[in-house]
Amino acid sequence: MLKDLDREYVLATYARADVSFVKGENATLTDSEGKKYIDFMSGIAVVSVGHSNEKLSNALCEQIKNITHISNLYLIEPQIKAAEAIVKSSGYDMRCFFGNSGAEANEGAIKIARKYGEVDGKIKRYKIITLEHSFHGRTITTVKATAQESMHNFFGPFPDGFVYAKDIDEIESMLDSHTVAVMIELVQGEGGVEPLDRDKVQALAKMLKDRNILLIVDEVQTGIYRTGEFLASNLYDIEPDIITLAKGLGGGVPIGVVMTSHKDILSAGDHGSTFGGNYLSSTAALSVIEILNEYKDSGELDEALLYFEKGVNRLHIKYPDIFLKSVGFGMMRGLRVRDGDTLAKIISNALKEGVVVLKAGKNTLRLLPPLTISKGEMDEGFFRLDNAIASI
Ligand SMILES: *Cc1c(COP(=O)(O)O)cnc(C)c1O
Repeated sequence: MLKDLDREYVLATYARADVSFVKGENATLTDSEGKKYIDFMSGIAVVSVGHSNEKLSNALCEQIKNITHISNLYLIEPQIKAAEAIVKSSGYDMRCFFGNSGAEANEGAIKIARKYGEVDGKIKRYKIITLEHSFHGRTITTVKATAQESMHNFFGPFPDGFVYAKDIDEIESMLDSHTVAVMIELVQGEGGVEPLDRDKVQALAKMLKDRNILLIVDEVQTGIYRTGEFLASNLYDIEPDIITLAKGLGGGVPIGVVMTSHKDILSAGDHGSTFGGNYLSSTAALSVIEILNEYKDSGELDEALLYFEKGVNRLHIKYPDIFLKSVGFGMMRGLRVRDGDTLAKIISNALKEGVVVLKAGKNTLRLLPPLTISKGEMDEGFFRLDNAIASI
């Protein structure tokens, strides 16, 4: 019934499973038939503080009873406080701009870089280097920034100025007088939960700084404690010029951020957003950061990360003929599967067993639970996932 309506009225951009969730509590989901699932994907790294988190729900309810939206033409208290919380938690000396999604945050990053490359009203430097297997979004520009040819079908012509490096080693040889920035994910999420090498990233950051080329880190997926630290940039111990955030920041409420150490780069009128950082979304972000800072400071996050890592590694060791490699950090984990067909079977079996998981790249089983997942939920999720794999 719902599936028929979906087919009738919604554009078919997703190969959707015939499941509809009606309730979530932390990392446990219930579907319309009453069946329970363990959530090992958190809506693609979005539901960072768990479903129907009490503190977040209360903050949102209180806020919408007062005011939900006005305009960025006025001071918005929770937006200003969210910006302060983001900047202070990051440890970087930056300012924030609020949008509504990861792609929009990256659009902002690209605009900032292009303005940085402008001299005397002319774009002197405009080229941005991105990496193969990257993912930066679905708008025309961020699709072009994404170095996967398969995503460039149908939608050209694209804006100029994006070039792709095979890997981090190739970047230096590609720099020319038009290069203004390099944009990377520290752990390539959609590309297969592939972490970049820490030493190489640090060397890249230094080399770019020496040459006055901006480093943009797309932390849309890795940000907000997903890898264990507030930002993956903190984990890699680098100081990017521009950082983008979205997914986990609003705990399910759409919000995106571009933040930069070039604090005066944009002037009134250069950029904007009708919805970005309104009372609703910025209250969500502020509440999520408060919840997670407390969770991290108490040691509970690190404990949960370790427990989750053990569960992933147990599966890796138990099924050496299925899993080639265990990859990722913190609550952003992947198991490289021997082939895409086996992975497809694991994902569909998992859904039947009652645990929701994701694919990344061609053959990576991606696990992104809510950061607040309980030990009991982890145990149950891994038990079900094990059953899904055993029946292959
Ligand atoms: C999901 C994602 C995006 C796009 O975010 P949207 O909110 O879907 O626009 C961009 N970059 C990375 C690294 C992502 O994981």
